[in-house]
Amino acid sequence: MKQLSIAVLPGDGIGPEVMESALQILEAVGQRIDRQFVTQHHPAGAQNYVDTGEALPESTLAACRAADAILFGAMGLPHVRGADGTEVIPQLDIRFALDLYAGVRPVRTWPGLPVPLSDPRATAIDLVLVRENTEGLFYARGRGVVEADAVFDTQKISRAGTTRIVDFALKLAEDRARLGKPGKVTNVDKANVFASMAFWRQIFEERARLHPGVKTENAYVDAMALNLVLKPWQYDVLVTENMFGDILSDLIASLVGGMGMAPSGDIGDHHGLFQPAHGTAPDIAGQGIANPTAMILSAAMMLDWLAIRQQDAALAVGARVIETAVQSAFVSQAVRPREFGGNSGTADITRAVLERL
Ligand code: ATP
Ligand code: MG
Repeated sequence: MKQLSIAVLPGDGIGPEVMESALQILEAVGQRIDRQFVTQHHPAGAQNYVDTGEALPESTLAACRAADAILFGAMGLPHVRGADGTEVIPQLDIRFALDLYAGVRPVRTWPGLPVPLSDPRATAIDLVLVRENTEGLFYARGRGVVEADAVFDTQKISRAGTTRIVDFALKLAEDRARLGKPGKVTNVDKANVFASMAFWRQIFEERARLHPGVKTENAYVDAMALNLVLKPWQYDVLVTENMFGDILSDLIASLVGGMGMAPSGDIGDHHGLFQPAHGTAPDIAGQGIANPTAMILSAAMMLDWLAIRQQDAALAVGARVIETAVQSAFVSQAVRPREFGGNSGTADITRAVLERL
């Protein structure tokens, strides 16, 4: 049987709780498509930093490099701070170390679950935010210039970094058009105020001209915050720099019911890491009430990514099997996550999906 090696980094807070759920689903899917996922757990995270002084051990990073794909829970705890006073967030270190430059965050509404917006068109939200993961203001992380009465963080927008992320988004729109989706890319920036973002927009427009089949448009991030609530059904692929992507990905998760419904992939040219878009949710950790759907759907994204890299269509079938089982669990009303006013816990939702696999 074909084997795929998966590095598993459960992390902190609800990370290990939702990871357990996704691994059960993955094993069951493997049996259905005749593939074996060889999963190996590796330490990393804020608690690991407290226990050992290391947030991201070199051995964990090496295991991530060697694996076919990486499954990641969530990391960071509010009270655990590094020497510079900021939170210990090794997920950012992994993104930089493995050059996972594309943060891919799809959201869609699911039949059977309530939709926060009351407009009937809001039942058909299906969009993907592509976040630049390695530059922007996050580039300043750990490089801030501290003076007596002022602190400076520098924003970096490079030609190479922008070209690869806008190309990724344009290609994604082409792929989605083949699936019958609009195939439109909305570039989100603040080009009217910042030289760095005017440069970003110029590169977006240059690259867009190389993809004449893709509809493109520009938007300012403030207007985008408005329009994503007023008419989110009008969007298909959004591409934006690091910090705007950080903020807007939480906003789009809210459109479909909450962080527990938002999967993500951090993708580079050589490695792919898949994790829920949410954090460690310390407020609900340890209670068995986290919604595992985002983590389960992240495992499905991993299968889609692996299917292309390994030229193995069975893996894409596995992804569809997972999505169909999730959809059926909600349509049947067998479970409803607490984010939607239901009372299904992590184990209830996992069981409902497993039963339908
Ligand atoms: P990060 O800095 O890592 O992005 P965060 O501070 O933005 O983390 P999250 O951990 O994502 O915060 O949590 C935001 C809110 O969403 C919290 O109220 C949390 O309880 C809720 N939440 C996050 N994930 C889930 C989940 N899987 N199920 C239910 N609620 C969740
Ligand atoms: Mg967040």
